[in-house]
Amino acid sequence: MNTIIQATNLQKSYAGQRVVDGLSLSIHKGECFGLLGPNGAGKTTTLRMLLGLSTPDSGEITLLDLPVPRAAREARIRVGVVPQMDNLDPDFTVAENLLVYGRYFGMKDSEIEARIPSLLEFASLTNKRDAKVPTLSGGMKRRLTLARALVNDPEVLFLDEPTTGLDPQARHVIWQRLRELTQQGKTLLLTTHFMDEAERLCHRLAVLDNGKLISQGTPRELIEQNIEPQVVEVFGETAETWANEFAAGFSQRFEVSGETVFCYVRDAQPLVSHLQAQKALRYLHRPANLEDVFLKLTGREMRE
Ligand code: ADP
Repeated sequence: MNTIIQATNLQKSYAGQRVVDGLSLSIHKGECFGLLGPNGAGKTTTLRMLLGLSTPDSGEITLLDLPVPRAAREARIRVGVVPQMDNLDPDFTVAENLLVYGRYFGMKDSEIEARIPSLLEFASLTNKRDAKVPTLSGGMKRRLTLARALVNDPEVLFLDEPTTGLDPQARHVIWQRLRELTQQGKTLLLTTHFMDEAERLCHRLAVLDNGKLISQGTPRELIEQNIEPQVVEVFGETAETWANEFAAGFSQRFEVSGETVFCYVRDAQPLVSHLQAQKALRYLHRPANLEDVFLKLTGREMRE
């Protein structure tokens, strides 16, 4: 297996506080690898260290077989980055943004110009070539940021929350483009808050909390290893009273959150039959998903 990113026992503290704590990761060629975790879990700090933009207090990193941060500049020439916030130049047109960015990599203008049509086509922005950035929609700006990250034809792409702030249509377009990139053999490392995004896109995932890796595997492995296969959500004003009396008898595990009871079960049939007779309650029976795993591993409390 071709290892593209290798991190071993990374540690990073800010003001005496460990924000990345003993993290090791191995990311292989052609895979889409997702870093999940609540706010403040250390995802962005990890990406920055892997790119050589922040120096770990200890631990080892290789990116494309080059030691980071020592040879980070050399490695970054073969890497594309899609930052969390679009930092396109508002004074330039779509095509000019690609041109200026390509120059950072030492590419000749003629070389960049030759790539622009295919980058615009990939981003579905061919007819926006001469539009100024402020006239673009949020989805278009994201697609341009993605196209810009591809200007140097990178082998690896780092994407920090690539679809945050986009509407469902725009997210689906980005997902489709990211799938095309992995099909071309590019390696993707992304952070996301969206479990549906992680489940759809990522071959493997790592869940971080408080700077530590708490679980790792394919989406299916994470679900199978951490949680019962079926979930019955029970809703209604009397749900909590119902839970106190019945939930434990019908489920392997249950959680009450507001007026909803989440029942995690191996066999949902007895519970569903029972609920059909409870006219004051509504329920939803569904397969367990990554969000259930995430909430089990990292808790339901809000993180600021
Ligand atoms: P995530 O991306 O998972 O939300 P971050 O890596 O951004 O998490 O942040 C992890 C923790 O490190 C947070 O508590 C954040 O406030 C802190 N942090 C990140 N960067 C800095 C910095 N440059 N200086 C001080 N604290 C930082």
